[in-house]
Amino acid sequence: MDLKSGLPFFKSGLVADYPKLEHDIKTDVIIIGGGISGALAAYYLIKNNIPCVVVDARTIGLGSTAASTSLLQYEIDTPLHKLINFVGTKNAVKSYWLCAQAIDKLNQIRKEIKFTNFETKQSLYYAATKKDVAELETEYRIRKQHGFKVSLLKEDAVFKKIGLHAPAAILSAKAAQTDAYLFTHSLLQYNIKKGLMVFDRTPITDIRHSTKTVKLTTENGKTLQAKKIIYATGYETVNYIDKKILKLQSTYAIASEILSTPKPFWKNDMLIWNTANPYLYIRTTEDNRIIVGGRDENFYSPGRRDKLLKKKTKQLSKDFLKLFPDINFTPEFSWTGTFGSTKDGLPFIGTYNKLPNSYFALGFGGNGITFSLIAAEIIAGCLMGKKNKDAAIFSFDRL
Ligand SMILES: Cc1cc2nc3c(=O)[nH]c(=O)nc-3n(C[C@H](O)[C@H](O)[C@H](O)COP(=O)(O)OP(=O)(O)OC[C@H]3O[C@@H](n4cnc5c(N)ncnc54)[C@H](O)[C@@H]3O)c2cc1C
Repeated sequence: MDLKSGLPFFKSGLVADYPKLEHDIKTDVIIIGGGISGALAAYYLIKNNIPCVVVDARTIGLGSTAASTSLLQYEIDTPLHKLINFVGTKNAVKSYWLCAQAIDKLNQIRKEIKFTNFETKQSLYYAATKKDVAELETEYRIRKQHGFKVSLLKEDAVFKKIGLHAPAAILSAKAAQTDAYLFTHSLLQYNIKKGLMVFDRTPITDIRHSTKTVKLTTENGKTLQAKKIIYATGYETVNYIDKKILKLQSTYAIASEILSTPKPFWKNDMLIWNTANPYLYIRTTEDNRIIVGGRDENFYSPGRRDKLLKKKTKQLSKDFLKLFPDINFTPEFSWTGTFGSTKDGLPFIGTYNKLPNSYFALGFGGNGITFSLIAAEIIAGCLMGKKNKDAAIFSFDRL
């Protein structure tokens, strides 16, 4: 599958090398996929003394992870008041809380592994039009009712506080931003020192699930045998699951040239996104750039997707300048990626009964990274024989 094209700002050179697999391997757990999901799964397994191996078809990190704009939000693509209609109040609220806790856990992990590209932020979710205000207010009330630290800003307050014109907004205390590509390498490098083996440029071409083991064969005929396998294969998991679990889309992002004025460009340098469908989102970078993303298209077709990149770059720049006409924004990098969303906006995590001895870590949607953390924690728990009552929320059986 063609996962991305253009030049993602974050992919600023290779930061570490990993070997190809050139021999047979036997271990406890094989993780297919060395993106942020596979790297976090490996972190939790190694932490719990479960021997494991990560194997990836691409160079490490160069799947969707390299395209990620790496906003970390507890706010799932499906607003809480709508998620309740899909999965009920208890599971919807729990999903939001798990994402909120995932941001804190990612922060703890990055401190432990001494990864510095991580900043906690506030997040502003604004109504894109006047007709979105009523829904935004409902969303605010329901989040507040369930204990989330949010405040509702009316039009005047949005302008006074942030300097942008919007009819209303929810300001959330909890959010963060990182660099998923560098975070992935940091996690893998940290765990290699603790015994993790990582192989890249090693496509798995055959997987046999039996009652006791799983046997994988690589493109060059090497075999990997394990008691369990974790599929951290991102959107390419559609190749392994015979159920329609996600809708593939195309999404776009741009990064500006480095601005000469110092940050913050707007109050508190907060993350910004809106109620439009597809939504627009904005963040800054450590080196004084602005990233703008959105303008999604409802298809998976790399050719059509890539042809639109120039047009989308112009549109996203215009979207930004409409909000902040006084900021000197010139796009320098633009890229596009495949993006997958599920019917309810939640990820798929856990077992799939047609493939014994397997676990899936599928953090789909705009919150892919926080979902990856939740998946890693749940799966590590299952491997240690611990019951996790939250696992059912994300199971394949729910839809
Ligand atoms: C433009 C864009 C912006 C985004 N912004 C955000 C954001 O701001 N915040 C957020 O949380 N999420 C965001 N996401 C989503 C996020 O990037 C993804 O959820 C996340 O990177 C997925 O990581 P992953 O490890 O699951 O998948 P990937 O990074 O795609 O890794 C999966 C790996 O599996 C490997 N693989 C697959 N099949 C095989 C096989 N047969 N053999 C060997 N290896 C195999 C692939 O080579 C690949 O490297 C964004 C996505 C895009 C495209």
